[in-house]
Amino acid sequence: MSAQLERTAIVTGAARGIGAATAKQLAQDGFAVAVLDLDEQACAPVVDEITAAGGQALAVGADVSDEQAVTDAVAAVAGRLGDPTVLVNNAGITRDNLLHKMSVDDWDAVTKVHLRGAFLMGRAVQKFMASTGWGRIVNISSTSALGNRGQANYSAAKAGLQGFTKTLALELGRFGVTANAIAPGFIETDMTAATAARLGMEFEDFIDAVAGQIPVQRTGRPDDIAHAVSYLVSERAGFVSGQVLYVAGGPHA
Ligand code: NAP
Repeated sequence: MSAQLERTAIVTGAARGIGAATAKQLAQDGFAVAVLDLDEQACAPVVDEITAAGGQALAVGADVSDEQAVTDAVAAVAGRLGDPTVLVNNAGITRDNLLHKMSVDDWDAVTKVHLRGAFLMGRAVQKFMASTGWGRIVNISSTSALGNRGQANYSAAKAGLQGFTKTLALELGRFGVTANAIAPGFIETDMTAATAARLGMEFEDFIDAVAGQIPVQRTGRPDDIAHAVSYLVSERAGFVSGQVLYVAGGPHA
């Protein structure tokens, strides 16, 4: 068995969208994968797909912003799949509004899931990575980190994740752990479908309009991000740390 087959990955927000594609990709890459999301039942289709393809996966229900839930979830993963040495902080929500209409609840909800969630998950898994002498952390940021109208909360959280990533790279490098961020552009998921609905547009029309603004003339798909994660958690990426990889079909948001 190769060293990589013995490794366990946790992907948060993995019941659907980018997280589900990433969980399936990492299983294909030989990792045992904890498919973590708010609702354990919602993880079942992803787990079933992985196991049907011959992989190993575990559904884990947890709110990444809840300290005790994170502690329990990581302990369950370590006990049932093995010490987690790969973490993909992907769970996320949006609560878009212009600044003058943004409530404190909208601000807190978004920063809590993205920032507090990534912090709690990272803190809980780093001890397994340090004791193994190997680890990979990938935080899912966004092109919105560069600023996006109506997303003061989300863009602040996604920019914050980039600083968090660089600090983890500095602190954990000596333990064989790399930390990187991926900043996706527009990816076709329920999250962007909800944005289309909020704008009163059909999703297909929204996709067409956005695609025309992207240099490669198409919008992104969850697999585009999963492939980038696959590289960053691989052995081959061991000298890449503290970076932000924009996966957006071009150089700009
Ligand atoms: P999605 O389809 O909405 O999926 C997000 C998943 O995260 C959902 O399954 C959701 O569960 C889960 N989640 C939310 N809050 C959670 C919490 N507190 N604890 C655990 N799980 C939680 O979103 P996506 O488009 O795949 O996005 C995935 C990540 O990529 C997010 O961080 C997002 O900000 C980022 N991103 C997306 C895009 C894009 O264009 N789609 C672009 C840039 C960055 P529920 O279904 O139960 O809410």
